[in-house]
Amino acid sequence: PAQDLILDVSNIEVIYDHVILVLKGVSLVVPRGGIVAILGANGAGKTTTLKAISNLLHAERGEVTKGSIVFEGEEVQALSPNDLVRRGCIQVMEGRHCFGHLTIEENLLTGAFTRRDGKAAIREDMEKIYAYFPRLKERRHSMSGYTSGGEQQMCAIGRALMSRPKMILLDEPSMGLAPQIVEQIFEIVRDINAREGVSFLVAEQNTNMALRYATFGYIMETGRIVMDGDAKSLRENEDVKEFYLGVS
Ligand code: ATP
Repeated sequence: PAQDLILDVSNIEVIYDHVILVLKGVSLVVPRGGIVAILGANGAGKTTTLKAISNLLHAERGEVTKGSIVFEGEEVQALSPNDLVRRGCIQVMEGRHCFGHLTIEENLLTGAFTRRDGKAAIREDMEKIYAYFPRLKERRHSMSGYTSGGEQQMCAIGRALMSRPKMILLDEPSMGLAPQIVEQIFEIVRDINAREGVSFLVAEQNTNMALRYATFGYIMETGRIVMDGDAKSLRENEDVKEFYLGVS
């Protein structure tokens, strides 16, 4: 039987400002319940790929001009980002994007904006998020702008979880964080994946870390996927070792 895919991106092309071709036919899939990594250097097109999926390119004058993006069996390119959130697909943007002048708890609450199931259910989910991120519970009354980078990344992931997603697009969670903090965050991602069944598509420059947690990886260079494979085979691949893992 065909694999159960939560996301199936086929041959997408993205153009910025009507002329700059940045994605040159990108195809990738995320199996339901998978953790899939998009790897590659700064500027390879990882962020553009995630934003194409969540329909966030318009603000940057970018446009998907070719290909298809199928989430849960349906073409989603015509949906607004908010409609996509309602369907269960949400992006955690690079740079964490919490509201700095709101407390951690208020930030989490903003993540429930698409829900109609009332305060009790929202409260319950908030407690669940605090169980995944005890640090957020301790800091819940602090303004997020005054919390550490790691706490802000946790807050951004927690906020996304408040929408009860089936899939999270996670952009560069390691950015600017110390290795132990990155590790903690990936451990929690793995936990959320295992317990809640949330699928993840993670864009990362930190190949080493990402391949320890992902089930499958795609490597991008200048707008194309140049290699893919299960995480173990990529970790053992000589080219990947030489160019991306910093060892040969
Ligand atoms: P990063 O690690 O910086 O997020 P990335 O792999 O995610 O890198 P993208 O941000 O997707 O790469 O950028 C891919 C290419 O598209 C780069 O060459 C970048 O300069 C270009 N680009 C990104 N945004 C725009 C834009 N709004 N207009 C024009 N070109 C853009």
